[in-house]
Amino acid sequence: MFLGGDYMCIFCEIANKKIASNIIYEDDSVFAFLDLSQAGKGHTLVIPKKHYTDLLEIDDADYLHVMEVAKKIASVLKKTFSCEGINILNNCGSAAGQSVFHFHVHVIPRYNNDKVTIIWEDHSDMMQKEELLEIKESILKNI
Ligand code: AMP
Ligand code: ZN
Repeated sequence: MFLGGDYMCIFCEIANKKIASNIIYEDDSVFAFLDLSQAGKGHTLVIPKKHYTDLLEIDDADYLHVMEVAKKIASVLKKTFSCEGINILNNCGSAAGQSVFHFHVHVIPRYNNDKVTIIWEDHSDMMQKEELLEIKESILKNI
């Protein structure tokens, strides 16, 4: 995505250090900082320094490096806070809960009985075998 004119992306500003953040990690192409919302203690965002709107836009090499850093941060958070679990999460599109349109991955430390809700309904009892096959066939046409 071309960002010209006066368009201001908050995560570009954070990566360029024009806006302050609690920096956890930085290299030539990736930046990680604490998410202000702190869903779990240590909740960190990992972003490419280059602006990509979302998962479907990010270049593969940048994506892989973001994920590599997210994995490293996950183990650092485990070591730091002795968390009992970790969610690595990306919201792609507003329907999926994306609110900042600069690709980012959440690394969220989890604790037994914490109040974080990352949940979906289980429809397995309503799913016929045929329906699953149909879904699979539709997807396979586009792979
Ligand atoms: P998402 O809803 O997946 O797009 O996540 C956006 C996240 O960015 C939210 O969890 C916000 O708490 C976080 N956020 C927004 N602005 C800032 C900021 N200036 N510094 C740190 N985190 C931020
Ligand atoms: Zn940006």
